[in-house]
Amino acid sequence: SYRDLEKILFSMDGKSYSVYKSLKGEYRFEKYVLAIDHVQSDPYAPPSKMRVTMDRKICGIPYELTDTKDKNIAVSDFLTRNFYREIQKSGNDGTGTGGSGRIFIDRCGQEILERTSVFIKGDKVEVRFEMGMPARGRRIMGKAAQKIIFEQLPEIVEKSIIYDNLNKKALNEQVILVLDQEYARKMLKEKGLVAFVANGSVLPRESGVSDKPMKNAVKFKSPEKFEVTLKLPSGKKVSGMGIPKGITLIVGGGYHGKSTLLAALERGVYNHIAQDGRELIISESDAVKIRAEDGRNVEKVNISGFINNLPQNKDTRAFSTENASGSTSQAANVAEALEYGTSLLLIDEDTSATNFMIRDGRMQKLVTKEKEPITPFIDRVKELYDNFGVSTILIVGGSGDYFDVANHVIMMDEYVPKDATEKAKEIAKSDENKREFSSNDKFQGVTQRIPLKKSFSQSGKLDKTKAKGKYSILYGKELIDISGLEQLVDDSQTNCIAVMIDYFKNKVLDEKLTLSQAADRIYERIEKEGLDSISSYTGHPGNLALPRKQEFCGAVNRYRKLKIK
Ligand code: ADP
Ligand code: MG
Repeated sequence: SYRDLEKILFSMDGKSYSVYKSLKGEYRFEKYVLAIDHVQSDPYAPPSKMRVTMDRKICGIPYELTDTKDKNIAVSDFLTRNFYREIQKSGNDGTGTGGSGRIFIDRCGQEILERTSVFIKGDKVEVRFEMGMPARGRRIMGKAAQKIIFEQLPEIVEKSIIYDNLNKKALNEQVILVLDQEYARKMLKEKGLVAFVANGSVLPRESGVSDKPMKNAVKFKSPEKFEVTLKLPSGKKVSGMGIPKGITLIVGGGYHGKSTLLAALERGVYNHIAQDGRELIISESDAVKIRAEDGRNVEKVNISGFINNLPQNKDTRAFSTENASGSTSQAANVAEALEYGTSLLLIDEDTSATNFMIRDGRMQKLVTKEKEPITPFIDRVKELYDNFGVSTILIVGGSGDYFDVANHVIMMDEYVPKDATEKAKEIAKSDENKREFSSNDKFQGVTQRIPLKKSFSQSGKLDKTKAKGKYSILYGKELIDISGLEQLVDDSQTNCIAVMIDYFKNKVLDEKLTLSQAADRIYERIEKEGLDSISSYTGHPGNLALPRKQEFCGAVNRYRKLKIK
């Protein structure tokens, strides 16, 4: 029990650090059980893993706040944020060697994600956290450990997860907000939309390194033509810009807020916390940002719809390169997105290869079809919508050629969107200098690819997959650079991708499943058994946040040793 633990900690004071190992086990405290699952081997090693498990009755959070998955996610997120905040307030400051003596829990950003940090199921609430067991040099600081576990931790737990001590109104509002957001996302299809931006939203962020809302920003206001009103489950009625299915062009002068709008739509696949400014910016959940990504590895991707007749007859129906160009990388990104499944592509001129996006009439006259391998996106975007049901929202500030194919044109004018559809169509009609459709054949779609087991064999089963920050994953010695995945929002998603890749290579890959199908298997398992179930961590999997299928597959595709059947 906890009294014994207290004595043990005192008696350990001054002993060699490795003696901490004997603490592994479970200890009953007054209101919860503390489980010490994994003890670090030295003060500089990753901190020790612990859990606090509390009976739902003692915790007191009403069952009706967690009786659906969406609500459960909302509450878990709320409790994780609370726990994090209470650690900061508790005076827990890591005075030991190497910062030991600190408590850690997953840090949530502006998005509300499914996580493993707080686990609510049945009649238990469990908080998964880490603690750097305090040391002076390599000696145990027994009294400091006692203080953290017996004074700071109980207070943090008390204040952050016991219902009576919570800000009940804020908790309730977060649940309602998530339900509203989920509902709005479901309503998109019914209303024939691919995205919605509520009036009053704040789109720009504080800075390039802060995801918090910009202060004194110009608030969003929909052009009348695109205004729709959604009635949300909370009873709230919200009006805003509904972007219809089809091809939507965002135009406007430089610095008028085009990229900011697109970035908000990219993030609209996730739910956001109150006060974020993007709470009611909602996009199709499978929307994919497409960008050029020169240098990336591409493995047998069918990019023939965009690139054909390469010099030396290189086959573009199964195109491979270790060093893709701007246009081939962007073509591969589109093809891969279609493989995993998407209903909306988001493209910004700032991060696109010009020759992939456009080719004007004059250039067509100079360089004939036969000499140009690229069928630019402008000649496929309509087919993608008409024949494959994939909509596109794209920014093109520098070329009016897209007026011909766009269904809607939104002009950003001093951060205010205007409808410019009619005007753009008129200009397109009156224009003499027409371009021609530049391909001889129709877009054939993409090819589903089957990843091979041997992709992962060279380093053997023992090799660990490990995340390093948000944009790198190490598989053995192989670095997977995923900085091209702009819709990844949290380090814990990257952690989760690393765990998923392990699961993928050990349990799912079978030489028959396509990458998309294999990913579906993993998500089905998570859906059924929970996010914990794919982890093979020692101790608890407290630092996972669910990425989308698009990002998981995106990471696998960026693994340079990937082999395709
Ligand atoms: P564009 O892509 O049209 O060139 P950006 O979207 O990059 O323009 O925006 C240019 C600048 O304006 C950015 O620094 C951005 O933070 C700021 N900005 C964007 N929207 C707003 C807004 N609604 N209110 C205030 N500033 C904004
Ligand atoms: Mg821009």
